[in-house]
Amino acid sequence: MNLEIQAKKDFMKRAIFPGTFDPFTIGHYSIVKRGLALFDEIIIGIGVNQLKKTLFDESKRLDIINQAFADEPRVKAMVYNNLTIDFAKSVDAQFILRGLRTVADFEYERTIGDTNRILSGIETVILFTESAYAHISSTVTRDLISYGKDISAFLPPNVKL
Ligand code: ADP
Repeated sequence: MNLEIQAKKDFMKRAIFPGTFDPFTIGHYSIVKRGLALFDEIIIGIGVNQLKKTLFDESKRLDIINQAFADEPRVKAMVYNNLTIDFAKSVDAQFILRGLRTVADFEYERTIGDTNRILSGIETVILFTESAYAHISSTVTRDLISYGKDISAFLPPNVKL
């Protein structure tokens, strides 16, 4: 890599967008799209916790995100199974991106955001959800799937399950 490209890479503002994404919804998609106005690159981190049972396995969750961002080279997706701040450091991300829907999300996001900053100095940047997506959650999406309902409106554009 030539020096100019290397220097550019070193100045890149990179964020991780960590979550369980079981599955990745249009609410998550909107946060990442809007985050692209703030960051040069966003790495979506699918956090894997062996104790947490999920409906979709890691490769399916990755596949859904890759379908959603097939035309967006500034977004990448990875699976990680360490602490979120260690994952952020391993990919040279200076920021953690998160989304906020309700006051119920607020306390949780503040606690982990503060903890992550105190432990690592990495700042969390939080975007408020677009109101059209405030009701969308992975949990409700999974419930609807279990009743055989069509959830295409809950998924990002161009995604097939
Ligand atoms: P986690 O298990 O870490 O909460 P999620 O996959 O549920 O992971 O969510 C990842 C992030 O996306 C969280 O910051 C969450 O608040 C945010 N998020 C989830 N649904 C929406 C939505 N509809 N609009 C905006 N942000 C959302």
